[in-house]
Amino acid sequence: MADSFDEECDYLFKAVLIGDSAVGKSNLLSRFARDEFHLDSKPTIGVEFAYRNVKVGDKLIKAQIWDTAGQERFRAITSSYYRGALGALLVYDITRSPTFNSVKKWLTELRDFGNPDMVVVLVGNKSDLGHSREVDLEQGKSLAEAENLCFMETSALQNLNVEEAFLEMINRIHKITSQKVL
Ligand code: GDP
Repeated sequence: MADSFDEECDYLFKAVLIGDSAVGKSNLLSRFARDEFHLDSKPTIGVEFAYRNVKVGDKLIKAQIWDTAGQERFRAITSSYYRGALGALLVYDITRSPTFNSVKKWLTELRDFGNPDMVVVLVGNKSDLGHSREVDLEQGKSLAEAENLCFMETSALQNLNVEEAFLEMINRIHKITSQKVL
């Protein structure tokens, strides 16, 4: 689980969660940062973030992950949300195709406001709800391939692939930044 907040780290990374409302961003973050799931999570207003320390090789990385905390509902995410972010999890809900159709809009926003080298992982969440699926696994995969993104389906509820999605992003950020340092 998360290491202590005060532990000395080698690098601090900022990453952001984006995607339509109610796709599961807050629950993905609480799973990753605190191993919790909230059935009736209510959107709160104002940016929230959580930290998690991750060991990559012999380096200790403190990942600071920002959550929109409901602001996407009002299209009120400002450029400061993206400022300095090296990675993003772009989340849609596999049971609601409009949330998948919005992915391109979120990518445009990322490209307008974000760092051009940003590592983006496309995440199809709620994979536990296969019986209500509206977006096929293949659709997610091929969009990710076309846009040059990593891709994963997750379930925050069942804690499937959540760790893997965040760690994929963090490892890739680390790879890019350590190449720059050399
Ligand atoms: P956000 O608005 O994108 O931050 O979404 P939330 O994390 O608040 O989740 C919205 C709703 O979806 C809540 O009722 C959650 O309990 C539910 N939810 C989130 N992730 C999952 C999941 O993986 N599976 C299922 N079945 N429900 C989920």
